[in-house]
Amino acid sequence: METEAPFKEIIEEIQEYGGETFKFCYQCGKCDTVCPWNKVTDFSMRKLIRETTFGLPEVELEEVWRCTTCGKCVLQCPRDVRQIDNVVALRRLATGYGVSNVLLKPVRSASASLAAEGNPFVQDRSTRADWAKGSNVKKFTEEMEILYFPGCLPSYDARLGKVAQATASILNKAGVEFGILGTEENCCGESIRKTGNEDLFKRLAKDNIKTFIENGVKKILVSSPHCYHTFKNEYPEFSVNFDVVHISEYLYELIHEGRLQISREYAKKVIYHDPCYLGRHNGIYDEPREVLRQIPGLELLEMEESREESLCCGMGGGRIWIDTKMEERFSNLRVEEAVRLGAGVLVTCCPYCIDAFEESRLGLNYEDTIEVKDITEIIQEVI
Ligand code: SF4
Ligand code: SF4
Repeated sequence: METEAPFKEIIEEIQEYGGETFKFCYQCGKCDTVCPWNKVTDFSMRKLIRETTFGLPEVELEEVWRCTTCGKCVLQCPRDVRQIDNVVALRRLATGYGVSNVLLKPVRSASASLAAEGNPFVQDRSTRADWAKGSNVKKFTEEMEILYFPGCLPSYDARLGKVAQATASILNKAGVEFGILGTEENCCGESIRKTGNEDLFKRLAKDNIKTFIENGVKKILVSSPHCYHTFKNEYPEFSVNFDVVHISEYLYELIHEGRLQISREYAKKVIYHDPCYLGRHNGIYDEPREVLRQIPGLELLEMEESREESLCCGMGGGRIWIDTKMEERFSNLRVEEAVRLGAGVLVTCCPYCIDAFEESRLGLNYEDTIEVKDITEIIQEVI
């Protein structure tokens, strides 16, 4: 059953922007039941879809910008209403109309920086490879086995830089011939696309694709599930297909091929958090767990909501740039859950999740209670 649309032009524009399936919604509300926002405040994807059906979405309101694109509702919807496609279409509509909201100020600054410097943090392109100083990391050349693409947070953020350094040290130890693109690397564009800035996404994607082709790149190793998702599932829109591997899969491969030996114990209770873009969006649940299970002494705990049910950290869909009130942060719930379940280490493999969990750990005064680690940081300690 399709609902009649009183504001046809708006509906047509939303459809042009990739929002097609909202018309299948029959308002069951299952999306709202699973949406993480309803753990911290009121938010209704069902209502947003309803307003869209009538051509009346209020694109200037925060509601349009709340969805973190975590994908939980998409898996639950009985009518295959692809909520993420629809909300991104609304954001594209808002972007097209130049909608201004104080909330979006940091998104505008991130966009300007992405356009000028290829990163969203208002940092110079020339410093993109500074994390690699003293790490024995070479510039990528065609004959190398793999390109390591650390992405923006590990390239520019001091905390996440440790993840890039741990990755390089593991690759060196395993004897992998790898290189980086350094200042030629651009943001993958995943998050800015989710804010509705399609033109900027295309520009970043085309620049990266050109650089990959010119440098003879075939296989790309990434730290971020967001880069993984974009290279694997979105760059093929430009008629290219690179072999993309996430570090959790690659560690699994290196250990099973005997290229990486684990030689030390890690006698801690470790709880694993499934990042949305690795798990729900790309089905990678087992490899990180298998890697952790190889470590002697490590006791692996599970979250109450794990694998397909995992609770989003709150940073996807461009929310990394939008300020979220302390009491509305999903990452607080996750850190509290990890502590309640007795974990000494919260481990994951996404720079966005680590950034969010580190802030929550600080904000909740859990600095002496729990550590937050990327999987590479644990592996680096035991090889
Ligand atoms: S779960 Fe699907 S059908 Fe049900 S209200 Fe949400 S979008 Fe509509
Ligand atoms: S994708 Fe996640 S954050 Fe967005 S509406 Fe669905 S459940 Fe909520």
